[in-house]
Amino acid sequence: HPFNENFLMSIASVGAFIIGELFEGVMVMLLYAVGELLQSIAVGSSRRSISNLVSIRSETATVLVSDYQVVVPPEKLNVGDIVLVKAGEKIPVDGIVVEGTTDLDTKSLTGEFKLKPVTVGDEVLSGCINMGGNIKVKTTRKYVDSAVAKIMEMVENASDKKSRTEKTVTVFARFYTPIVCILAVVIGFVVPALIRAFGGTFDLATWVHRALVLLVVSCPCAIVISIPLTYFCAIGSAAKQGILVKGATFFDTLAKTRVAAFDKTGTLTKGEFSIVKVEGDGVVDYVAAAERGSSHPIAKPFEGIQTKYVATEVKEIAGKGVSCLIDGKRVLVGNYKLLDEAGVACEKREANGTLIYVAVDGKYMGMVELDDTVKEDATAALADLKATGVTRTVILTGDNKQGAQRVAQKIGGIDEVYCDILPDKKAEIVEELKKEGVVLYVGDGINDTPVMTVADCAVSMGKLGSAAAVEASDVVLPTDNLKAVPKAVKIAKKTKARVIENLTFAILAKVVFMVLGVLDLLPMWLAVIADVGVMLLTVLNATRVSG
Ligand code: ADP
Ligand code: MG
Repeated sequence: HPFNENFLMSIASVGAFIIGELFEGVMVMLLYAVGELLQSIAVGSSRRSISNLVSIRSETATVLVSDYQVVVPPEKLNVGDIVLVKAGEKIPVDGIVVEGTTDLDTKSLTGEFKLKPVTVGDEVLSGCINMGGNIKVKTTRKYVDSAVAKIMEMVENASDKKSRTEKTVTVFARFYTPIVCILAVVIGFVVPALIRAFGGTFDLATWVHRALVLLVVSCPCAIVISIPLTYFCAIGSAAKQGILVKGATFFDTLAKTRVAAFDKTGTLTKGEFSIVKVEGDGVVDYVAAAERGSSHPIAKPFEGIQTKYVATEVKEIAGKGVSCLIDGKRVLVGNYKLLDEAGVACEKREANGTLIYVAVDGKYMGMVELDDTVKEDATAALADLKATGVTRTVILTGDNKQGAQRVAQKIGGIDEVYCDILPDKKAEIVEELKKEGVVLYVGDGINDTPVMTVADCAVSMGKLGSAAAVEASDVVLPTDNLKAVPKAVKIAKKTKARVIENLTFAILAKVVFMVLGVLDLLPMWLAVIADVGVMLLTVLNATRVSG
């Protein structure tokens, strides 16, 4: 819009010429131009460091078509293509290794340099670099659905969701410049006119000069540039550390986190279930058939199990299990609550793991016990989170009490466990927790989406998590590592500190220079240097977030 800093500087230098201060006029233009140049270098370099992210995308992919190697852009790959990834190349799209063994550098996704060994059957995410031998990958996602495309899209869109501070600054800038112009007119012309009216003597040039100095020092660029830049750098810095923040506004809430609530399965635990016990004849057949239609981590261990049944009318009941038709019979596969509510007579069992009860046509058939392992970094993540100032940590899970408490004990640092709860109840509890302060919710499943919309800030697991959870959350962790949660809070706190520092410093400096200017204690060229100096310092301070 027209009332920007260029406008202020133009009036200031033209005004200087008019009152005969040629040297001042030239200095204003010269120093301002130098300032703009320095600023564009500083801003440009931080922007570049963020667009380095773009380099996680591979430009080409080598697809194998009946033993011929064809080089195509990754966007052209279809699901099911066999792609050759040579040593040193990036994985172009997500897939599964079908030939070869190698180590992958996952730095672009996690932020930490770590070699991950992969072999036939392992899932590989796009953006990772092949550090070992050649591998062949069967693609499981198109480019647009792959990890790398999602990461880039989220980072690009993030700058659209402005934080409250940024919005305030924009509104402030719109009114600020015209107000300063009016103030300058008052000082340059109205004050002398008043002095004359009261019979005093004055030098018009002096008063105009004061007004011009005011215009120069009042330039709002330090604030207008450095605040959005701080958030911009924070988004980039977080992305490089494996944290995708969907908008600047979420840094504001993350920094204030008091209560952290976690889902259990797939969030605190790996969601890699193994079958530890089976009771009842043919139970596994039923479960395997029913779970074919489920995307819950519980369904995973049954994927490889042959079953003589085919389930139809499969309905997944979030937080409870699956209901389906097999051989014309109504089959229920899920937790105690599912069977109990359907009126099936069955005994509630105690177990260390997760229990899946099976009922056929209203009759209890047996059960399967599954075990899941806690994520290695869960304990450290919770300890780090407490160190950032989080006062309460809780687990909200649909699983049974014993299973939930065993996980809580293993991890340590959990203040409270809410078990046997359904998705909508999770939301209610979070609503209740919000009375204690800002609530952060970390989850992975479709059953977590209602609670994610209620929580002040929601984090989802991008790898294991359902697409719905990734969509509903504000922060996505593409590699599911829990350590990223305290890291996100730390980056948010750092960002907030930089924003407050910049605002305080810029406003204080402006006020001091304005007063000096109006008192005629500040020559114009010094005013420009002061103004440019403040701007550069705030810009440099903003880029410190990326450290
Ligand atoms: P969490 O809140 O720990 O992520 P969920 O709310 O997803 O767990 O599930 C809660 C419980 O519901 C599980 O522990 C399990 O007993 C049951 N359940 C959910 N989905 C299924 C399924 N597909 N098959 C069997 N049981 C299920
Ligand atoms: Mg879950």
